[in-house]
Amino acid sequence: MLQHRNSKQRNIIREYLEGRTDHPCAEKLYNEIHEHYPSISLGTIYRNLMYLTDIGEIQSIDIGDGVTHFDPNPKPHVHFYCKKCHKISDIFIDDYIRLNTFFAKYSNAHIEKCTVTLEGLCDQCQNL
Ligand SMILES: [Zn+2]
Ligand SMILES: [Zn+2]
Repeated sequence: MLQHRNSKQRNIIREYLEGRTDHPCAEKLYNEIHEHYPSISLGTIYRNLMYLTDIGEIQSIDIGDGVTHFDPNPKPHVHFYCKKCHKISDIFIDDYIRLNTFFAKYSNAHIEKCTVTLEGLCDQCQNL
């Protein structure tokens, strides 16, 4: 029964995250979900987001603003953070995975993940 409830809540969270490219944090998702499902707490949402990240279904992003952002696209890609409007946008690079190989040349460690976050002004903010 508890298992059933958990997967139901998880599916609601999946549904709210699906197809998004705005990289919401747990609190933003909570505000949206809470409106329609008042029984789901922020803690539940956060735990489920971490679970989905752990199993590789989604990815979490740390851009240094103190909150964890979530991306429904688990494929490795670069994130660009606009320091003015705080928008996080995706940059897809064909040979992204080769960055791991590049850094592996300089270390004997087994590198499993390589995260690149770029920061600056997005095209809209440059023209303001
Ligand atoms: Zn911007
Ligand atoms: Zn992304």
